[in-house]
Amino acid sequence: SGVTVDTDVAIIGAGPVGLFAVFECGMLRMRSVVLDALDAIGGQCTALYPEKPIYDIPAHPAIDGAALIEKLEAQAAPFNPLYLLGRRVEKLRQVEGGWELGSSAGDVVRCKAVIIAAGAGAFGPNRPPLDGLAGYEASGAVRYLVAKREEFRGKRVVIAGGGDSAVDWALSLKEIAAKVTVVHRRPKFRAAPESAARLDEAAARGEVEMAIPYQLHGLEGDGARLTGVVLATLKGETKTVAADFLLPFYGLSMELGPIAGWGLGLERSHVGVTPATCETNLPGIHAVGDIATYPGKLKLILQGFAEAAMAAHAIHPRVFPGEALHFEYSTSKGVPHSP
Ligand code: FAD
Repeated sequence: SGVTVDTDVAIIGAGPVGLFAVFECGMLRMRSVVLDALDAIGGQCTALYPEKPIYDIPAHPAIDGAALIEKLEAQAAPFNPLYLLGRRVEKLRQVEGGWELGSSAGDVVRCKAVIIAAGAGAFGPNRPPLDGLAGYEASGAVRYLVAKREEFRGKRVVIAGGGDSAVDWALSLKEIAAKVTVVHRRPKFRAAPESAARLDEAAARGEVEMAIPYQLHGLEGDGARLTGVVLATLKGETKTVAADFLLPFYGLSMELGPIAGWGLGLERSHVGVTPATCETNLPGIHAVGDIATYPGKLKLILQGFAEAAMAAHAIHPRVFPGEALHFEYSTSKGVPHSP
């Protein structure tokens, strides 16, 4: 599975800075492909604070994280970027005439230059520290998101966590599952009060079993097929709940992951760049936004935007060798019409 594509610039990360890099590349007639580990574009703005207003985006006295991303997507749209979402970029290697990226979904992206706009790394689920977890993840017995609700019909499901995802999925799956058990460390849930109240009512009616205050302690089964989940109190008293599936909803975290192994000479988990070009120590590999560092760096979206412009201009000669790049304003050049 996965796609094989050729493009001018591969952009790793669809956060605000990666999205603006699509626009800046497009203005210089360079095509781009954007990859992100998340299923949605927007990076931290979407995943961590969609409804919070940001006050330091020039010309926007206040704009919500989600609204900023919507506008960046619209600004990039005339350039038809290919978004490859829900996959992590794992591999980077130099090939004749440029670079090749490999993703966790099996995609191969060949390009003349790379812009790394990876923030603090790829977003992924917080995993519970349980022995043998990888085997049960591989078989699908342990999952961090529900793609097809029907798969849980008639099954015994253990849901762990105290936030909206845990509560909402408990309420939804109790309708079709044979049994739903909710595991949480304390009686108070962080979910929307109305949903938490509905969960309490469902528990009082016996539609959901509450395991409180318990934590996940172990997995039982043959290493792939799950038969039970072991729970423990803080005092160490354990009990086992029969289960076919475990859904831990412990939120998202960012992890630099494979990028650390690409020979970029990381400085405390950041990529050092030449400020004027945002080029790293590898030719044609540029880094912008939160992941990039240099003397005077501010980890702000507005600085990332300027870095995207500098990176795009620095990459232009690799995509159009020998062609002079005359500096032009967007007002004189214009933007292609939206597709
Ligand atoms: P990110 O937004 O971090 O996006 C990086 C993306 O790259 C992620 O989606 C990640 O999944 C993806 N990625 C990483 N590695 C890989 C890989 N190997 N394969 C595939 N995908 C990968 N900034 C401001 O300027 N003003 C503010 O008021 C402000 N408020 C904030 C409030 C909060 C609560 C938080 C958390 C941050 C705030 N920030 C603010 C910071 C701002 O959100 C970041 O500076 C900005 O998101 C950085 O953008 P980015 O595009 O560099 O990276």
